[in-house]
Amino acid sequence: MRNLVLFGPPGSGKGTQSAFLVKHYNLVHLSTGDVFRFNIKGGTELGKLAQSYMDKGELVPDEVTISMLEQEVEKRPDAIGFIFDGFPRTTAQAVALDKFLETRGVSIESMLALEVEVEELKKRLLARAETSGRVDDSNLDVIQNRIDVYNAETAPVANFYKTAGKFKSINGLGSKEDVTGRLVAAIG
Ligand code: AMP
Repeated sequence: MRNLVLFGPPGSGKGTQSAFLVKHYNLVHLSTGDVFRFNIKGGTELGKLAQSYMDKGELVPDEVTISMLEQEVEKRPDAIGFIFDGFPRTTAQAVALDKFLETRGVSIESMLALEVEVEELKKRLLARAETSGRVDDSNLDVIQNRIDVYNAETAPVANFYKTAGKFKSINGLGSKEDVTGRLVAAIG
């Protein structure tokens, strides 16, 4: 099984690149942000809970997110592998993911970290807001909070995969095709 973590700050291109990678490697794309948004649209209890955090650019609590992620993986027994996009976002989530995969006899192959500087991230998120309709993309204070939360809680997750020898840094600047090429070269 080929399980990849696509990592990086908001606006670094995780969603865009996942769309290509899932086709190329025949993997299942699992974006926790997408699952939350799907639940918000559907008006579920999970959606109501998640929305209060998402609108402010805060993280949804680990317990809720981990259990949702595990359920999503279990829905796809046919999968030959997953691209985890936007998960894990805390070290506790990374530890839980490792344990969960271990119970299934599989593991994370590598973490691919898209590196993009902060001014470019803000520019991309504001541009995305024009079409995404996402509340959290259109407000500069919320964008800043998402970047701050990323730096404080999510960036340290890279160390978890560095220690495991699974971390790969990818330059996220340039055209979509350039970045895809770098990812494919790194995945091998
Ligand atoms: P994204 O679509 O990845 O940009 O995520 C949008 C928002 O969903 C984040 O700002 C968080 O509020 C929430 N979210 C997504 N994934 C996670 C996660 N792994 N842990 C906690 N909150 C998350």
